[in-house]
Amino acid sequence: MNAMLQPRFAPKVHTHTRSARPWYFEREAETMPPAALEKLQLRRLRATVKNAYDNVALHRRRMDAARIAPRDLRSLEDLAALPFTQKADLRDAYPFGLFARPRKSLARLHASSGTTGKPTVVGYTKRDIATWAGLMARSLACAGARPGDVVHNAYGYGLFTGGLGAHYGAERLGATVVPMSGGATERQVLLIRDFGARVLCATPSYALNIAEVAEKEGLDLRTADLAIGVFGAEPWSEAMRREIEARLGLRAIDIYGLSEIMGPGVAVECEAQDGLHGWEDHFLFEIIDPDTGRPAPEGQPGELVITTLTKQALPMIRYRTRDITRLTRERCACGRSHARLKRITGRNDDMLIIRGVNVYPSQVEAVLVGLEGLAPYYQLVVERHGSMDELTIEVETVRAFAADEAANLQRLVAHHVKSMIGVTASVAAKKPGEVPRSQGKAVRVRDLRPKSG
Ligand SMILES: [Zn+2]
Repeated sequence: MNAMLQPRFAPKVHTHTRSARPWYFEREAETMPPAALEKLQLRRLRATVKNAYDNVALHRRRMDAARIAPRDLRSLEDLAALPFTQKADLRDAYPFGLFARPRKSLARLHASSGTTGKPTVVGYTKRDIATWAGLMARSLACAGARPGDVVHNAYGYGLFTGGLGAHYGAERLGATVVPMSGGATERQVLLIRDFGARVLCATPSYALNIAEVAEKEGLDLRTADLAIGVFGAEPWSEAMRREIEARLGLRAIDIYGLSEIMGPGVAVECEAQDGLHGWEDHFLFEIIDPDTGRPAPEGQPGELVITTLTKQALPMIRYRTRDITRLTRERCACGRSHARLKRITGRNDDMLIIRGVNVYPSQVEAVLVGLEGLAPYYQLVVERHGSMDELTIEVETVRAFAADEAANLQRLVAHHVKSMIGVTASVAAKKPGEVPRSQGKAVRVRDLRPKSG
């Protein structure tokens, strides 16, 4: 193997010992035997479908058209007869058309920015907020957070569900929350150190920004109290996990959620870091073939579909997440009985098709991060020349290179991308600091192709 392609970091050695015994925020719910869990799911599914049918015109219309009524649900398998819900349904029902409760009984609204057209709006009753806080507290505990910890919350506050979702969960856990939000990274670094944060909540790309700023300021956060990172809201790779763990001296835990379903805390990794436990007492998870809509064979990857089981204001029936993953029911070392979602490679929406090859930004990331000579910052630029799509990968070097050295590096990266992903790409080496840094959700793709056609 060429020296240039060797990982820059030795395999992670955890400086913070793992807990000897797992600690559960809600032991009974988290370790419930499968038969009891299924019984609970069916009872809650029937109530949810009835709530949707009785109170949301769209669900009633679709179920009537499919000739299925809430009382027809006799087993969990009957779920497959229910129609799907999609993101477009939320947009079409803008703003409150999918709510099963009158607006006056809602405690809070959140909304996504919506890159095209109207935003998607989600609503919560007081009880929904309490359920969410409980699940987020459970998730933080599953990641290794404990009551009494300082939780530094760098998720954005506001209409985005990340900030307030993590905030309420950390409070519910009994932690001390620092409601930092994104930005002002120099100050974040100081407060992480001075307040003794043990847990950092952020997007993975922003966590990397924090690490870089700390290094520039000469502050070594690896010797601070930081032990756990709870990172989500964007796809990331194992290579990026190792990079962030090495630079911040913490264990990086993947968390998953989406506002249409609740927000963060739908699924999270435990200390085993081997798949994300999806909280099956509150959600039903299915994996389908995205082309046919039929269930994917057991253990095979496909599109994740989620049905909520306890939400009042916005019950979701078979919501197509567009996230590609697979599900495992193998026993986990932590003792939790809930199925695990394998790491999410990417959203269908993020997938680029370059001359017939499917490319996810996180696949490119897995190739780039950790390579000798490269900093872990990159962007994919897609252009159309004639009828051909061209992919350029902008990578950042760790130091300024001479022209022939840079050309050599570009050739090696292109070769590696071709052999690992199968796509031919140009590689543009950028000087240190030239690739934009994340302030929250990272921009991985610049699509310069004409919008129509
Ligand atoms: Zn586990």
